[in-house]
Amino acid sequence: MINKLLLEGLHRNLEYASGAKANLDGRLCFDVMRSELASSQRSSYDKGCAKLLTCEGGWTAAVAAERGYEVDPSCSLCGGPLDPPWHRLVECPCVEDKRRSTIPADVLSILRDAPTGEQKRAAITGLFQHPADDAARPLELPSGHVISLDWLTPQVYQQLDDLPSC
Ligand SMILES: [Zn+2]
Repeated sequence: MINKLLLEGLHRNLEYASGAKANLDGRLCFDVMRSELASSQRSSYDKGCAKLLTCEGGWTAAVAAERGYEVDPSCSLCGGPLDPPWHRLVECPCVEDKRRSTIPADVLSILRDAPTGEQKRAAITGLFQHPADDAARPLELPSGHVISLDWLTPQVYQQLDDLPSC
């Protein structure tokens, strides 16, 4: 149990570190990618590609050129001026058939209709801001303050008295 809690804490810290790298005020959620990697329906190749994309390791020509390599940044498939991952995922006409057979139509519609930066990141890397970041936080009291539950005590005793005995 302690090992599990420590491991979850380590993962949470890594999620916060990833969120900071992505300029988020919170953490990135790896749950979708984690479940894909645990799926028995995915091949080793699929899982390797998923890991690669999660780490933004999908180096298209435009990415390589942006990172200092002297390469032609244009798309080698359609000849478009730039070939960032977004072009391959959403725009390149040469992979339209594969795209339509892989990405659900409603998701593709969202991606083509002015997506937010968060939606673009989720589409390319499978990562998004953790939904727990929006959840209500536990009550925090200033140190030295406690909530008195004395008023509840008679009711609790009465409830215990009312319980059927074995
Ligand atoms: Zn292209």
